[in-house]
Amino acid sequence: MKIAVVGTGYVGLVAGACLAETGNQVACADIDRAKIDRLNAGEIPIYEPGLEPLVERNLREGRLSFTTDVSAAVAAAEVVFIAVGTPPGEDGSADLKHVLAVAETIGRSMPDDGPEKIVITKSTVPVGTANKVRDAIRRHTARRFHVCSNPEFLKEGAAVQDFMKPDRVVVGVDSEHARDRLAELYAPFVRTGNPVLFMDIASAEITKYAANAMLATRISFMNTIAALCEAVGADVGEVRRGIGSDERIGPAFLFAGIGYGGSCFPKDVKALVHTLCECGVDPAILEGVEKVNAQQKGVLVERVTERFGADLSGRTFAVWGLAFKPETDDMREAPSLTIVRRLCEAGATVRAHDPEAGHEAERHFADLLAGGALELCPRNYDCLPGADALLVLTEWAPYRVPDFDRIRAGLAQPVVFDGRNLWDPARMREMGFEYVSVGRAPAYPPPSVVPARPAVAGAAS
Ligand code: NAD
Repeated sequence: MKIAVVGTGYVGLVAGACLAETGNQVACADIDRAKIDRLNAGEIPIYEPGLEPLVERNLREGRLSFTTDVSAAVAAAEVVFIAVGTPPGEDGSADLKHVLAVAETIGRSMPDDGPEKIVITKSTVPVGTANKVRDAIRRHTARRFHVCSNPEFLKEGAAVQDFMKPDRVVVGVDSEHARDRLAELYAPFVRTGNPVLFMDIASAEITKYAANAMLATRISFMNTIAALCEAVGADVGEVRRGIGSDERIGPAFLFAGIGYGGSCFPKDVKALVHTLCECGVDPAILEGVEKVNAQQKGVLVERVTERFGADLSGRTFAVWGLAFKPETDDMREAPSLTIVRRLCEAGATVRAHDPEAGHEAERHFADLLAGGALELCPRNYDCLPGADALLVLTEWAPYRVPDFDRIRAGLAQPVVFDGRNLWDPARMREMGFEYVSVGRAPAYPPPSVVPARPAVAGAAS
């Protein structure tokens, strides 16, 4: 099929490359000239495992192209995916200006002949958006076309894998023709039997928000349970094992930490709250989810100031991890944005490392870098020398089994605040660390007052 994907960000680029991989002719269009120039030069503007070879191969074999000429791309395509951003507006609602701008372009570029166009919103958009897209196109053309909702569930860091082998594909359609063409388009991705779920458009639009809001709810729920565990000396990891083995609950998305971030959960929960209010439905449950998350992003800094005092002037902290999760360079709404900034505002100097998000950090923290409050280090151990403590903010694989002797030797004092519960508290204390994690009390007392473990008979001293 001839396909145009409009918006060449995390979703559009992955979708375009994967659709080309199954033999379609795909034009990826974006108004960001610098991005398109880089893509045409064979450079991938984002870090996403497995994406580079896919783009290279399909570019080389002529199935994939990149252009800033959105009109030409959509005019030539039978299937048009809208994959532009839907950032939060001032009132928390999803801002549809990019989506509707593309719809207008599609309407204006509608050719007089050729197959009936199928226009698909892949961006995450509130219920009712397909109607707005249809109206915007209709203003410019009398030709017949189809509008569908096909929300995207890929996860950054595993996006290619998720697109190529989705758990399910959700498609909201209102015509047999669109249903048949999309069934054909997605057939290569669901060969192992995972379903393509056809439904009405409104249900498809709501499904995406419901999925993200449910996942965000699980995270805030576990962070609340983590606070209880800390208060009473229990271990949230044990509680997670205890409830995750219940098949009605399942083990995924039950990790306590420093709050959810990224380009989707925060804005999608906000947008769903807005939609619920608009429709007269009480959003209390999601307001609670947001409140817990906002508090959770501050928890690690609270632990730091409990330990070192509110005035952190003259203190230096090493930070491992800035991306909102591992295997991505995305820092949108990452907990690190709150934590690093608060440490610096309290007077501290921060030395930070992230395997992939360095260039994003330069953008998000330009002021702190220019003022010298923040330094980015090329290797994780470079952050340590003389630092008062290490904070772990992203659970990147290379941080999981570090050289603890090197950490202890580098730090001015062996204090670790682990926002991702990477390490075993008892083991950390045995190694001489003052170790604070999330929901695994007691964070205190520090090792000097932890009672000595009774000697095990016959054990070597
Ligand atoms: P992004 O910001 O990475 O990319 C959006 C792209 O759209 C940018 O390159 C921008 O230049 C381009 N654009 C904006 N207006 C345009 C226009 N008028 N014409 C052409 N291009 C235009 O965004 P993203 O992360 O890829 O997300 C896109 C959508 O998909 C959002 O609605 C998001 O909520 C949703 N989504 C994202 C993810 C994710 O993990 N990032 C997952 C599922 C769904």
